[in-house]
Amino acid sequence: MTHIKSAIKRFMEAQRYTVFEPKAALIDMDGVLYDSMPLHASAWYDMVTAHGIKATKEEFFGYEGMTGAATINLLFEREYGRNATADEVAALYKEKTENFHAQGDVPLMKDADRMLDIFRQEGMERVLVTGSGQTTLIERISHDYPGAFKPENFITSRSVAHGKPDPEPYLKAMKLVDVKPWQSIVVENAPCGVRAGARAGAFTVGVATGPIPLDDLMKAGAAIAYSSMEAFVKALPSIIAELRAYK
Ligand code: CA
Repeated sequence: MTHIKSAIKRFMEAQRYTVFEPKAALIDMDGVLYDSMPLHASAWYDMVTAHGIKATKEEFFGYEGMTGAATINLLFEREYGRNATADEVAALYKEKTENFHAQGDVPLMKDADRMLDIFRQEGMERVLVTGSGQTTLIERISHDYPGAFKPENFITSRSVAHGKPDPEPYLKAMKLVDVKPWQSIVVENAPCGVRAGARAGAFTVGVATGPIPLDDLMKAGAAIAYSSMEAFVKALPSIIAELRAYK
């Protein structure tokens, strides 16, 4: 049995699904469509250390997918033993966002366009599911990945009460395009998002596009994981075909 077939079998048995009908691709943004995580990590690190909060740049890769408020509270809890106030969250997140934008254009993830093309060719609906709440997001995506997402197919931090790793963002995305978990493929690059997709019951693919080890993505509940976008794109047509063929 191939690696893909056995991963699918394991997933279907664990979920107790009898069929899988790939209808929608629910796709994370940072670290999947954009190679933005190194820029986010620097922006966070520079912001918090400027305020005297101890941190390492690497740890911010691990917080990926969490809301800005959750990350700030985690740091406050560790440094001061309390949550940040709403004003502190707003001010610090604003600073982090300014640091992020000061670094210039965010590079596109290599081969992400090919991934989107495959989902489109397979007749699957695409939904962007991001913890980000940037207002320019939809315009930017439409410019960088023309035709990949309908303007209404966006779940952002403003659409949800609970961000990743809660399954809510993915459950909302499924509702938005009227699909079930056994019709949904999630693409994520970080444990927090993988956990959200897996808890929502989707076939969740972990793509290690940054320094997070493949093993961490599997431990977070990925059905299958790849070490690069290129490797995932190569396998994707087979994944879709094998999910459809599962008996
Ligand atoms: Ca991500």
